[in-house]
Amino acid sequence: MSEDETHTVRAGWLHRLGLTPRRRASDPPVDASACPPPTDTTLQRRREMLADVSSFLMAHGLPVNSFTLDVAHKVMAETDTRLMRAVEDRVRAGEPITLDWLETVADRCGKPEGTQALQDLIERLESTITQFAQTASDARSATSRYSSALEQHAEGLDANDALQGGDTIAAQIAVMVHDMLARTRLLEGELDRSARETRKLEKNLADARREAEVDYLTGLPNRRAFEAVFAQEVAEAQQAGHALCVAFCDIDHFKRINDAHGHEAGDRILRTVAKTLSRLLPNACHVARHGGEEFVIVMRGLSMAEAVAKLDEVRGAMAGRRLINRSTDIPFGQITFSAGIADVRAHEDPREALRCADRALYVAKSEGRNRIVCAPVPFVDGMRTANS
Ligand code: GH3
Ligand code: MG
Ligand code: MG
Repeated sequence: MSEDETHTVRAGWLHRLGLTPRRRASDPPVDASACPPPTDTTLQRRREMLADVSSFLMAHGLPVNSFTLDVAHKVMAETDTRLMRAVEDRVRAGEPITLDWLETVADRCGKPEGTQALQDLIERLESTITQFAQTASDARSATSRYSSALEQHAEGLDANDALQGGDTIAAQIAVMVHDMLARTRLLEGELDRSARETRKLEKNLADARREAEVDYLTGLPNRRAFEAVFAQEVAEAQQAGHALCVAFCDIDHFKRINDAHGHEAGDRILRTVAKTLSRLLPNACHVARHGGEEFVIVMRGLSMAEAVAKLDEVRGAMAGRRLINRSTDIPFGQITFSAGIADVRAHEDPREALRCADRALYVAKSEGRNRIVCAPVPFVDGMRTANS
């Protein structure tokens, strides 16, 4: 199709959508006064938003598609503060805003909220079911007592006997008592069935709760599960006076693996690193997938020096392997990771230790990757706290 033909087809299609085709340089000039001025502030705001979204995409050389438009809108309209902050940090660090990076970060920002909503729903359902189970069990006991009492009375009541004795009222009562007894037994059966259904529902919910905390790709606990484990480890370590360290590990140049071998092979590498971390670290360490190609580890009972040595051992073991892409027989080359580690007890707020470990990871990357960097110990009252 010639350029002119393409333009005509496109013009027709835009016309059907109620739009005017974009002008070509060869088109006759347009009278600017013919463009309607903004009629109200809403229209003006929409124009500004479109201009902002467009500047964002153009400034970072991003393609125009539903994903990038959504992200650009979230950032420019400030509807997703986490995403906005991530973009700000990236720009401040002088790193490029690429499509791949946006995919990772949007995934990371979006998931916990979705998971949180699911978790909240599960919790509400669990509480409703527990209440229902209690009400049903109370009703079952009451029905059972009522049924036994009715049964005793029903034994002595026979409608035919009463009729023969000419007592029609007693006969009617006898019919009603037997009828009530039959209905009560039916109710007992239904309550038993409900109790069985409730137990099944409780089990399904417990399974759903477990699934909501597991990363589908690696089988490791996900970020949400990690947060709960971290809080528990902090509390237990404080009580028992145990050492506690936290580390962030990030696979080096992982994007290159995806680019060279494809996403599926990248997934296999993610699983391999996840397995290596969980297999080689002591049992008292909890490894979780924090998102993308990043893992977080909480290490209890190991001093900072011991934790660093252990993690460095795993780093060395990973770097020493030579993995081959089994679908193509092409070597992956050396797969390495960098890590930042912090002593949780050196920080008043455990979340600050997480932030420090994250910053140390960033330093590990900037210092050349394939290394472990310790977060500096904060000053307390002008004195350095001791490294346990
Ligand atoms: P660096 O050494 O600085 O960490 O470089 P990098 O390439 O590892 O980091 P970058 O953040 O530039 O890219 C991470 C890549 O990880 C981009 C994203 O597509 C990929 N990724 C994130 N999650 C997954 C996943 O579940 N599977 C696969 N195959 N790739 C993923
Ligand atoms: Mg990486
Ligand atoms: Mg990363």
